[in-house]
Amino acid sequence: MNMDAVDLVKDAPADPQEALAAALFRPMGVDGVYARTGVYENVVERLAALITRHRPEDAEVLRFPPVMSRRDLEKSGYLNSFPNLLGCVCALHGSVADIQDAVRRFEAGGSWTTSLSPADLVLSPAACYPVYPLAAARGAMPRGGWRFDIACDCFRHEPSRDLDRLQSFRMREFVCIGQPDDILAFRTRWIERGRELAAALGLDADIAPANDPFFGREGRMKAVSQIQQALKFELLVPIHSAERPTACMSFNYHRDHFGTTWGIHDEDGAVAHTGCVAFGMDRLAVAMFARHGVDIGGWPRAVRELLGL
Ligand code: AMP
Ligand code: ZN
Repeated sequence: MNMDAVDLVKDAPADPQEALAAALFRPMGVDGVYARTGVYENVVERLAALITRHRPEDAEVLRFPPVMSRRDLEKSGYLNSFPNLLGCVCALHGSVADIQDAVRRFEAGGSWTTSLSPADLVLSPAACYPVYPLAAARGAMPRGGWRFDIACDCFRHEPSRDLDRLQSFRMREFVCIGQPDDILAFRTRWIERGRELAAALGLDADIAPANDPFFGREGRMKAVSQIQQALKFELLVPIHSAERPTACMSFNYHRDHFGTTWGIHDEDGAVAHTGCVAFGMDRLAVAMFARHGVDIGGWPRAVRELLGL
């Protein structure tokens, strides 16, 4: 082996995750928060366009900023279920003197963050929370309900070095607000379509009943009840291994939780039920590179054609 070859071996990432990371992301100093390369972002955009082609015909399009009202998220019950995942925006709210004090403390090597207090914003932990108060403000739900196509940069405080578990990631959702039968039909349709989309993308996906990662000991009970009531299904893709597949889409039935919380009802006063299909855009993109390789030119022709690559 000559010296050049030794260097090549030394520079080549041994771990497949590292090879993926080198092609898709650039570090930003914190686990689970990355700058995205052009190659990666192109695939995210093509996947988004593919999902748009399947948008429910009557869906209203809304794009949310990465922050939302803290009060609205509190009212949604998020703290009851996932307090550990929530990120809250904080700011220096004091007087000019208080703020100058904090900065001076920092400049002298101390901490400025002890002077922070919460703003009225949180980082959105999922795309659909802001849609329910917005729908409720429109008054009685029309016959047939509402459909939304929404997207949001989401934050969850779950630092990890796994490329499929980010702290900051993109979520796209189709949301259905209506009668229970509408939601169940919507969800059944989307479970089937999710499966078809994954197959067309060349992903080895499975659909399975799932539960959310509810916090604490009481959370176990909530998780069991969620499974028993078949409220959540996930599309699982073996990004790391078949034993530990990754959820790339979820299909959720919230029953009357948001309808009751926000007072969404039809003209007869019947409370609305809601459901959503969520696409983890970053997970789908990572799954594509993990499955087909970092060189898009080598991806199966049918997959490239489907995505317009
Ligand atoms: P959930 O609300 O937990 O069902 O999340 C919806 C989708 O967002 C999941 O199916 C994933 O594809 C994606 N997602 C959730 N958490 C993360 C994360 N930490 N990093 C990347 N994607 C995520
Ligand atoms: Zn949702």
